[in-house]
Amino acid sequence: MPDTLTNLIDGEQVPAQSAATLDSIEPATGLVHTRVPDSDDADIDAAVAAARAAFPAWSDTPPAERSRLILRLADLIERDLDRLARAESIDSGKPISLARAVDIPRAAANFRFFATAILHTDSAAHQSNLPGPGGAIRALNVTLRKPRGVAGLISPWNLPLYLLTWKIAPAIATGNTAIAKPSEVTPLTAFMLGELAVEAGLPPGVLNIVHGRGPTAGAALVSHPDVPTISFTGGTETGRAIAHAGADTFKRISLELGGKNPNLVFADAELDDAVATSVRAAFTNQGQICLCGSRILVERSIHDEFVDRLVAGAMARRLGDPLDESTEHGALVSEDHLAKVDSYVQLARELGGEIRCGGKRAAPPNNRCKDGAFYEPTVITGLDPACRPQQEEIFGPVVIVTPFDTDDEALAIANATPYGLASMVWTSNLKRAHHVTERLDTAIVWVNCWMLRDLRTPFGGMKHSGLGREGGKDALNFFTEPKNVCIRL
Ligand code: NDP
Repeated sequence: MPDTLTNLIDGEQVPAQSAATLDSIEPATGLVHTRVPDSDDADIDAAVAAARAAFPAWSDTPPAERSRLILRLADLIERDLDRLARAESIDSGKPISLARAVDIPRAAANFRFFATAILHTDSAAHQSNLPGPGGAIRALNVTLRKPRGVAGLISPWNLPLYLLTWKIAPAIATGNTAIAKPSEVTPLTAFMLGELAVEAGLPPGVLNIVHGRGPTAGAALVSHPDVPTISFTGGTETGRAIAHAGADTFKRISLELGGKNPNLVFADAELDDAVATSVRAAFTNQGQICLCGSRILVERSIHDEFVDRLVAGAMARRLGDPLDESTEHGALVSEDHLAKVDSYVQLARELGGEIRCGGKRAAPPNNRCKDGAFYEPTVITGLDPACRPQQEEIFGPVVIVTPFDTDDEALAIANATPYGLASMVWTSNLKRAHHVTERLDTAIVWVNCWMLRDLRTPFGGMKHSGLGREGGKDALNFFTEPKNVCIRL
């Protein structure tokens, strides 16, 4: 791996034009492990120029050929699975086993899914028979779909390659050219993806990867007049800023934002399954997944037993060096983020919450990780559902449990946040499952499961958790412009 990463622009690996770099820190050790270009608007301009120049030929390339190249890229990701998983673990602090089992295979799956989806699309056609001044007029309406041009793709640090490829795959498969701006906190696998894209034979300029900070490189991309499409995944406040910035140039924007996802456990649930999955849903990737179930609402009759078992499950998670194969709970992404997570736990304490386990920085698992950002899995009870730790996204290994007495009360608590991303319902009563899922104000509801993702389904959030949907046909539609042609017969 080079000491300093580079941007991929027009098929070439190049430093930022200013030559400025930022340190990239391994969260498990606190040490700088590489440097990343601190790109700015000059680099974004160069990437946009390359993407614009590549667009006519790429959008005109037969889908079968685009598909072939993208499938080759998926193969290369699988070939390099171990190398990529190790890089993802070093960069983000996530357990290497998680990166190997989930993050990297999903990146390959994203490319495969959209590379093959474009071979099976169809266009809508409407036979029309409309009243006219002299009698019926017959016409045929055909809706064409064309790629929109240059797409700006901005992704966060929690699932670095997984989420970046979730955007790149549909964008380029549908014939757009792209500029990807990964989080500067986790640039490594994006850099490696750039190398693999060149090896796969993607034409220069089709995929450009520009590293750098959000307020500089990210903002330059969002406000660029020649970038009509922006797909963003990240925090709600950043999403708001992007929506404002894109409004001036009437960009089409998809926003996948934060969540404060309720997990409703009814007394008639299969408790073993509900507890085991709730532990995973709370603490996978150290709780740094937008879909994590961070608020657990439990029917009062089983509340105490559930909490005891949840605490046991939390404490049993193997905290360790992320590069150790047996580790289940790695480092948080940074010291700054750990401080933010801890501040919410302190606030919960001040508000009278009971810390049932965790609630502090964890002892380092070994000498290599002595300065790492490790935080114990934390379970809190006794907090008012309206308080800040229950309302704001903590995005760490912290889960808050609240009892409820009736279905209506559970729904009222579940829906009483500004977020509307995902929810979970645990019940063995089908009628209740229907009743509750219909009334939950979230865009995704999992019944008796969590994180079962079929890539054909619409993915996104409602309320302050996002605008628009990606995945399946929604993504194909997002990255294409419908044009209706009406032919009078
Ligand atoms: P941020 O919103 O801080 O950053 C996300 C990306 O946006 C990064 O690449 C960041 O760059 C960039 N960025 C920051 N400011 C701007 C700006 N003004 N203009 C353009 N780009 C900008 O989120 P985090 O990286 O902290 O990620 C965590 C958040 O992501 C959580 O809220 C989580 O819920 C959400 N998320 C949502 C998902 C969903 O599908 N709904 C999935 C996963 C995460 P840089 O990092 O370099 O500053």
